[in-house]
Amino acid sequence: MKPEYDLLVIGGGPGGALAARTAAEQGLSVGLIEKRPAIGVPVRCAEGVGRDLLEEFMDPDPAWISAEIDRAVIVAPDGYRMSLEPSMGGNEVGYVLDRKRFDRELVIQAAEAGADIQVKTRAISPIIENGTVSGARVEQNGLVQDIRARVVIAADGVESKFSRWCGVDTTVPLGEIETCVQYLMTGIDIDEAATVFYLGNDVAPEGYVWVFPKGPRTANVGIGISGRKSREGSRPLDYLNRFVRSNFPNGRIVEWIMGGVSICPPLEKTVADGLIIVGDAARVSDPITGGGIYNAMYTGRLAAQVAADAIAKGDVSAPSLMPYDAGWRASKLGSALQRNYRIKEYFVKLSDDKLNRLVHSISRLDLSQFSTLEIIKELIRHDPSLLLELKAIRDLL
Ligand SMILES: Cc1cc2nc3c(=O)[nH]c(=O)nc-3n(C[C@H](O)[C@H](O)[C@H](O)COP(=O)(O)OP(=O)(O)OC[C@H]3O[C@@H](n4cnc5c(N)ncnc54)[C@H](O)[C@@H]3O)c2cc1C
Repeated sequence: MKPEYDLLVIGGGPGGALAARTAAEQGLSVGLIEKRPAIGVPVRCAEGVGRDLLEEFMDPDPAWISAEIDRAVIVAPDGYRMSLEPSMGGNEVGYVLDRKRFDRELVIQAAEAGADIQVKTRAISPIIENGTVSGARVEQNGLVQDIRARVVIAADGVESKFSRWCGVDTTVPLGEIETCVQYLMTGIDIDEAATVFYLGNDVAPEGYVWVFPKGPRTANVGIGISGRKSREGSRPLDYLNRFVRSNFPNGRIVEWIMGGVSICPPLEKTVADGLIIVGDAARVSDPITGGGIYNAMYTGRLAAQVAADAIAKGDVSAPSLMPYDAGWRASKLGSALQRNYRIKEYFVKLSDDKLNRLVHSISRLDLSQFSTLEIIKELIRHDPSLLLELKAIRDLL
């Protein structure tokens, strides 16, 4: 790798790859480092992404799509199933990706655009000069190298350390980390065109179980529960095993992954002098679903555009990089994150009884009018005592 770039990207996930590709396309010299020896593995994801969202960035390619999804099914704690057709299922309807291939494809696109890629290379500390992040000290196979850059993009995921090393507070409270476990299961009876979400405090407290098809009789079967609900005998794995025993007793587990998802508000500030933070590292995954593929790609691309402008102006200070922070907050993504956080805060407190009533109520709606606002209105109609509780959320919608 060269000792100096315009832009250095830490992390080869969707956020880092989009940042590297966009910056290289704009003519910047770009280096991207990834600590793992291969891009995209191990997969730590249920791999679902909305059709419209993905297509904002690229044309779908069967080479990295495992399944096409045309509806989302919500299963209430009492077993009642509600089906949301594509126009209502939003981000939960579209594709289940093959992220091993998808992430690699994104990084290949960055390389084709001219970015240097180096795997098995870990950032071990930032280079900070006169208070400005000016690169990273990296380590590969025991060899340490300093790589300087005008701007560094931290795209190092939910376990991000780089921004913390640069003095940004990235702490996530325990209750706002969903701890997740997922099996890739085969030999199971599933609806191959539907993503299915199981709700309920006995199934997944402050979270949900998902079944996302990956092909014939094969699916990602996973769970996320609140970190504050996880304890001896009630860990995500315990819940998942109970779910699998009662729903897919004859299935075979062929992969097993664990991971965390932040469901907190985004970082208060996602830029510093010489630094931009994107994707999970910036805590921009969706607080309700935990989905963050699109969010990482969106922020990664915007970060590169703003970095290119700042470098062209010769000013990479935090104020000069602020259009990135202000840009994603003012976008549809930014308002969705704000709104969904408030909604999540409300939903995690619902008893199973209220969840059942909510799902039954929604399924009686004219779903051609379906929107979050309609759900809330319906809930209020059904149970006026919730009015005050819901007012704050309703005001946001
Ligand atoms: C169980 C689970 C299920 C999920 N399901 C979905 C889903 O269905 N849909 C969805 O949209 N999202 C889902 N997500 C979230 C999604 O995976 C992330 O939001 C997305 O991958 C974020 O992309 P990113 O580029 O920000 O980070 P990542 O994809 O995490 O990439 C960060 C990269 O940085 C590398 N890295 C870290 N530190 C360093 C370092 N010091 N030096 C060099 N490299 C480093 C890591 O190895 C990693 O490759 C799920 C997450 C989990 C855990």
